[in-house]
Amino acid sequence: MGTRKKVHAFVRVKPTDNFPHEMIRYGDDNKSIDILLKKDTRRGVVNNQQTDWSFKLDGVLHDASQDLVYETVAKDVVSQALDGYNGTIMCYGQTGAGKTYTMTGATENYKHRGILPRALQQVFRMIEERTTHAITVRVSYLEIYNESLFDLLSTLPYVGPSATPMTIVENPQGVFIKGLSVHLTSQEEDAFSLLFEGETNRVIASHTMNKNSSRSHCIFTIYVESHSRTLSDEKYITSKINLVDLAGSERLGKTGSEGRVLKEATYINKSLSFLEQAIIALGDQKRDHIPFRQCKLTHALKDSLGGNCNMVLVTNIYGEAAQLEETLSSLRFASRMKLVTTEPAINEKYDAERMVKNLEKELALLKQELAIHDSLANRTLVNYDPMDEVQIAEINSQVRRYLEGTLDEIDIINLRQIQEVFNQFRVVLSQQEQEIESALRRKYTLIDKNDFAAISAVQKAGLADVNGHLVGEPDGQGFGLGVIPFSFKPGKKIKSKKTFKDQLSIPVRKEGASSPLSTKELDISPSKTQLILPPRDGDVKDMRDRETSSTEPFPSDSPKEELRPPRPSTPPSKPVAFEDFKNERGSEINRIFKENKSILNERRKRASETTQRINAIKQEIDTTKEALNVQKALREKQGEYENKGLMIIDEEEFLLILKLKDLKKQYRAEYQDLRDLRAEIQYCQHLVDQCRHRLLTEFDIWYNESFFIPEDLQVALKSGCSIRPGMVPINRVVSLGEDDQDKFSQLQQTMLPEGPESVSFYNAKVKTEQKHNYLKAITGLQQVNKK
Ligand code: ADP
Ligand code: MG
Repeated sequence: MGTRKKVHAFVRVKPTDNFPHEMIRYGDDNKSIDILLKKDTRRGVVNNQQTDWSFKLDGVLHDASQDLVYETVAKDVVSQALDGYNGTIMCYGQTGAGKTYTMTGATENYKHRGILPRALQQVFRMIEERTTHAITVRVSYLEIYNESLFDLLSTLPYVGPSATPMTIVENPQGVFIKGLSVHLTSQEEDAFSLLFEGETNRVIASHTMNKNSSRSHCIFTIYVESHSRTLSDEKYITSKINLVDLAGSERLGKTGSEGRVLKEATYINKSLSFLEQAIIALGDQKRDHIPFRQCKLTHALKDSLGGNCNMVLVTNIYGEAAQLEETLSSLRFASRMKLVTTEPAINEKYDAERMVKNLEKELALLKQELAIHDSLANRTLVNYDPMDEVQIAEINSQVRRYLEGTLDEIDIINLRQIQEVFNQFRVVLSQQEQEIESALRRKYTLIDKNDFAAISAVQKAGLADVNGHLVGEPDGQGFGLGVIPFSFKPGKKIKSKKTFKDQLSIPVRKEGASSPLSTKELDISPSKTQLILPPRDGDVKDMRDRETSSTEPFPSDSPKEELRPPRPSTPPSKPVAFEDFKNERGSEINRIFKENKSILNERRKRASETTQRINAIKQEIDTTKEALNVQKALREKQGEYENKGLMIIDEEEFLLILKLKDLKKQYRAEYQDLRDLRAEIQYCQHLVDQCRHRLLTEFDIWYNESFFIPEDLQVALKSGCSIRPGMVPINRVVSLGEDDQDKFSQLQQTMLPEGPESVSFYNAKVKTEQKHNYLKAITGLQQVNKK
């Protein structure tokens, strides 16, 4: 397999009584044949023509028995067909030279049977020997006459006449004849019957249809399919053996025929000459196109000539001087054929059904193996089946919770689940992308950066500069977000007042390129789009520039600086923000506040309980006093007893006195407790109030810092001042004095024409002014606080 092989070409010489030994000579090795012509031969060969020829072949079969011919010519080809190699054996030669005799043989004499029956015999014998394989054999018998296809086995009762003419069809598996009956034969005898049926039809057709059988090509094909009996082997091999009895190769000139015969001769020559052309092309290594489709014969044999098959040619010649010219012609064809190389290869196929069964078996085995591993690893109930919708939905929810932070980790169960987790990450990500984009679209007008028409429209409207950068775009280096002020027109005076809307532009941080919030991270819109804020009064161009920012005197990369997410476009409502604040920055104050409050409540509860108890005691004291008074009055009425100055009282009155004394003691103790509690309550109340105040103050500062105060100002001022930026009333932070504004716009008008390099200069100018104003505001505040 895979090695190139030459076509084997043999010559079979038809026995004759007058063999011209002086004209036809065989080589000693019986592999060459020389033709020698005398110049004065009556064939009229012109003097200056070549007179000697020598042909190298694979063997000369002279006086060879049918047996020997089969052994030499066909045995190996048939044998290899059972191993999956296609094989083709062709007989070529002039009419009467013995092609049919070689191929079919004398059907009436077993000893003289030809290659066809012998090949069938060999196939069935080999099948019997190959018990390891289930081999099926099919046969077909095709005749090509005048470029028409005939099925020589169509007369069989179960075939039935075909409605449409047969056609040659090519598919990836090879070439086949559509409409040609192919017959499954399980034993030698059936195969022989089919062969005889075909031979009979060949003869009958030549009579009834007035066909000259020597003008037709006959192709008997044996199809072999071999499956291993070992069930696990899903591979199987197929092959076919084409046994071709070609039409007579004699040339038109010689027959001298006219009319119908002439037409036939033309066809014969045509198809044989096309065969010869194909053979020449196959023999030429440089040719990549082989003209197979020029006629039915070569087309039908397309995958059986050259290519991946074993090919053998038998050239039948007369061993007679009178036929030398045709003999020469036939030998030339044979020597051309010998140049053709083929690369025989096994036709291996896969039995899909068997393959699926084997894979299912393998799968079941692996599942068992997994189950064993799971139980060894103490993992129970792990399911390896594909996920259903419910499971996928559960994973989606896990991923969402994980992203929100409500789920710490996603347990790993198996590979399928891991893959689904990744899958759901992708799903969630793309949903979020869409949500963000649609949120942006609701608020902004998005322009494709490549949409030049839209950009020029925006330019006309004064919303973008000539380079297509949006006016509010910080540096035009791929920043996707920019703020377009409503009032801005090129050359128009720019107000430097910073309003909340200013924060809508990307919050540019001091660190510039080294900022943890890099441009990329901030650019949440698709990189090709830009953002334009719907125009609003009072909006101001963002003058901050990353370059300038990096020259800020106060580096902000201090470790205390916490990473803050980009600001929202609108600040949340205070109640909402307060909830956030309590969970984040204000959490510690809030915790203390809540603690104090609960202590306060606890003390209040105790105080109220104590009060209740005091009231109860007081009531009891009153009733006891009353009872005692009753006793006293009774005693006075009955007359008092005095003993040595001591009042004599009865036991009942004595007990009441004792009780009253005890109650008063209790009363005093409880009252003391209540007083202590009240003091504690007062103290706690004070603490709670303080905490609440602190909480609200801190919240306000945080709220201002988070949503209103420009970040660069915050950072710039942080290290230099004890008062935090958020403490300053917002209206004082964000405004410049009228004088400053005027000064700035004057500066700008005079300096801006100097070019874009001057922008950083102006930015620095604005910042310094802002900072100055801010410090003034803070100093004022500190003085107010001192008073
Ligand atoms: P072809 O098919 O090439 O036209 P055939 O095979 O029909 O020629 O042969 C013509 C005649 O010659 C037949 O009667 C055949 O039996 C006989 N014949 C051809 N070759 C041999 C041979 N090698 N031995 C005996 N008879 C032969
Ligand atoms: Mg014949």
